[in-house]
Amino acid sequence: DELIEEDETPVRWFRANTIKTTQDKVLKEFGHLERVYSIDDVKKGTIYHDDYIPNLFGVNPREKITSTDAYLKGRIIIQDRASCFPAFILDPVPGVDKVIDACAAPGNKTTHLASILRNIPNSIIAFERDSVRVKTLKKMCDKAGGSACISIQHGDFTDTNPDDYPDVTAMLVDPSCSGSGIFGRAFEENDTAVDGKDSKENNPYTEERLEKLSNFQFAIVKHAMMFPNLKKLVYSTCSIYPQEDERVAIRLLEDADLKKRGWKFCKRENVIPKWPRRGRVEEFSSLPDPELCAGACVRSLPKVDGGIGFFAAAFERSEGGEEEDD
Ligand code: SAM
Repeated sequence: DELIEEDETPVRWFRANTIKTTQDKVLKEFGHLERVYSIDDVKKGTIYHDDYIPNLFGVNPREKITSTDAYLKGRIIIQDRASCFPAFILDPVPGVDKVIDACAAPGNKTTHLASILRNIPNSIIAFERDSVRVKTLKKMCDKAGGSACISIQHGDFTDTNPDDYPDVTAMLVDPSCSGSGIFGRAFEENDTAVDGKDSKENNPYTEERLEKLSNFQFAIVKHAMMFPNLKKLVYSTCSIYPQEDERVAIRLLEDADLKKRGWKFCKRENVIPKWPRRGRVEEFSSLPDPELCAGACVRSLPKVDGGIGFFAAAFERSEGGEEEDD
């Protein structure tokens, strides 16, 4: 077996961009690679078609992907497996749901959403407040062929008035975080920022820094949950710290305004049920059903789970959840 360097991802993941191609065509394009059926068998010269996320493939990190025509023309998009969880869990319905991606650049999840929404024009509004990163977002949406589907808004998502968006039914909130789950080359691929900076610069993750980040994360998701006709929301981070993960989710569940609006955790059966690593049960010990809460969350550990460290929690609001005026 080839050794994997300290800072290297064990598997390099890419997804077929179904705006431009299909998974069968991608398999043909990479037909020179031998198909393997377990992530543990991914070696140079092989390709693995993921069990959890549709249209997703894994290859050995030494495989040359970025020089292929498929990559250069946007038929495939390099995106870590766990980073594909949020859009897949949100599962918006093409032609029915209108989606906001609240923290969009560089646009991995936005373009994934466009692909799921079959690229129907004006299905997504993507917010990005950073003026440099918003350009990257635009480039990525263009390259993916999703520009008609995605309307890019350069600005702070928390400055929006939720009542101006009565047609929005689903939302992804993937805010800046410590980036503590990210390592190696994934830094560039995911281009994850804390306040617009490479998260490497923000080491070490002091309690104080984590508290600041989690307050920001809570505030931005709470704002999102105030959108009047929102039915489903997925919150995600590439953090391995419960402060930014489960504890933010708990604060949201216990928030009086959000309770009144009927926000709850989704059921595990709708949150990649077969993915084994769920939320940390012990974090939910103060809530009535810790197992149920943990089931609404998925996590991945850096390297051990085949890519970056990641967390996602899925929330939904039942029909008629918000009857009271506030
Ligand atoms: N979802 C992206 C992807 O998968 O490609 C990665 C998002 S990155 C973790 C967080 C992004 O949110 C950064 O680009 C940051 O500038 C942006 N951001 C942070 N706070 C924001 C806010 N209040 N409004 C809009 N964008 C914000």
